Amino acid sequence: MYLYNSATHKKEEFRTHTPNRVEMYTCGPTVYHFAHIGNLRSYIMEDVLEKYLRFVGFDVNRVMNITDVGHLASDADTGEDKMLKGAKREHKSVMEIAQFYTDAFFEDCRKLNIKRPDVVQPATGMIEDYIRIIQTLEEKGYAYLAGGNVYFDTSKLDRYYVFNDHKEDDLAIGVREGVEEDTNKRNKNDFVLWFTKSKFEDQALKWDSPWGVGYPGWHIECSGISMKYNGEYLDLHCGGVDNAFPHHTNEIAQSESFLGHPWCPHWFHVHHLNTNDGKMSKSKGEFLTVSLLEEKGCDPLAYRWFCLQSHYRKALVFSWENLDNAAAAYTKLLNRIAALNPEGETDQAVFDEYRAKFVQQVGNDLNTSMAVTAVFDALKAKTNDATRLAIIGEFDKVLSLSLLEKAAAIREKSAQATQTGSGEYTITGEGDPAVDALVLQRYEAKKAKNFAEADRIRDELKAQGVEVTDVKGGAVWKKI
Ligand SMILES: [Zn+2]
Repeated sequence: MYLYNSATHKKEEFRTHTPNRVEMYTCGPTVYHFAHIGNLRSYIMEDVLEKYLRFVGFDVNRVMNITDVGHLASDADTGEDKMLKGAKREHKSVMEIAQFYTDAFFEDCRKLNIKRPDVVQPATGMIEDYIRIIQTLEEKGYAYLAGGNVYFDTSKLDRYYVFNDHKEDDLAIGVREGVEEDTNKRNKNDFVLWFTKSKFEDQALKWDSPWGVGYPGWHIECSGISMKYNGEYLDLHCGGVDNAFPHHTNEIAQSESFLGHPWCPHWFHVHHLNTNDGKMSKSKGEFLTVSLLEEKGCDPLAYRWFCLQSHYRKALVFSWENLDNAAAAYTKLLNRIAALNPEGETDQAVFDEYRAKFVQQVGNDLNTSMAVTAVFDALKAKTNDATRLAIIGEFDKVLSLSLLEKAAAIREKSAQATQTGSGEYTITGEGDPAVDALVLQRYEAKKAKNFAEADRIRDELKAQGVEVTDVKGGAVWKKI
């Protein structure tokens, strides 16, 4: 597979430390609120990447953290504590908030067909490990104590800006809005490994440590969790592009200083989901969640489809109109698949040919829009329906759009459609004689020019959630 690497700024052949084995790490959510669909875009694309790697034969060990401590409003260790903010907002304890939003995150993932990583580790479960890493960093001279906190000393590194998309001079202290300068830092990019003194006297979760009672910084958790479950050599680190600096930069600094050797050669960053007014966030504009999509009648998988249509390294613009268009295209595709006849033998040669082409196309820097096009190509393949269905089912191992399951459901529903009435007036419905009878009464009322009665029956049907469409020589009804 060829994959763009943010660390080298090049598309490279993806290689692993151990042949056929991928140690993969994903930065997980900070569980103080629901994930917005922009956050979930990253998890969808990472899910496709993981499934593709498995599809081409890699054994993948995927690890994810759950941030339930230490993440402040600014990624540069200042601002409000996110978990504390969530707990105050909802008058609950930090751990209650963490559990609730962890469950909500995985429920969203389930609806989006995002596989659960092999290892999911809440940050609070590994405090001893972080302390051990920080102690080693201190022994090696990479950490210092100032104002009660332990800091990583970035001046000890030969190279700090590995993702040098930024010029060092442009990165003023407090790069983000409303962020104040931390005067304990010796160098502007130093970051906190362990807090004992913070402005949050009411910080709920604290642990004993060699530096006093306190809590870990955000960055150390990902290094600690990855080194524990992925080992010393990570192959692939994923996250949203906004994590590249400072979070991932700091992860590299502390992991490599601790290990004494290079840590992770390949970095995969998914770009933002924007609205027409700019980057999507929880605090600005409409708070777009999976639940909100569902409330508006959108299948979460139509959102997955929407994401797959564009490349992960391009910003994607969300609007309800764009999503509606994607949802309509998704439904149309499902109907086309539903129209295929599943009976018959699969033509193995055609299947193999399409699979090989798919592997090659998607393997070009995770080209998911090509993958979607490949499904349409399969529909037009010069072969029988059974082979077309087998090819589409194979592609869906990577795409996870439930294509065959949903198409089968549509097929089953149309097979259940019943027809009643005389030759003069045929009612096509979903097998409910009471509804058929009402539809027929409506027809008879209309025939007798009793339009008030016909309208009354139509309203009654509507109240039962039945939609009637008049067609030539009859009517079709369905429950909506
Ligand atoms: Zn992380």
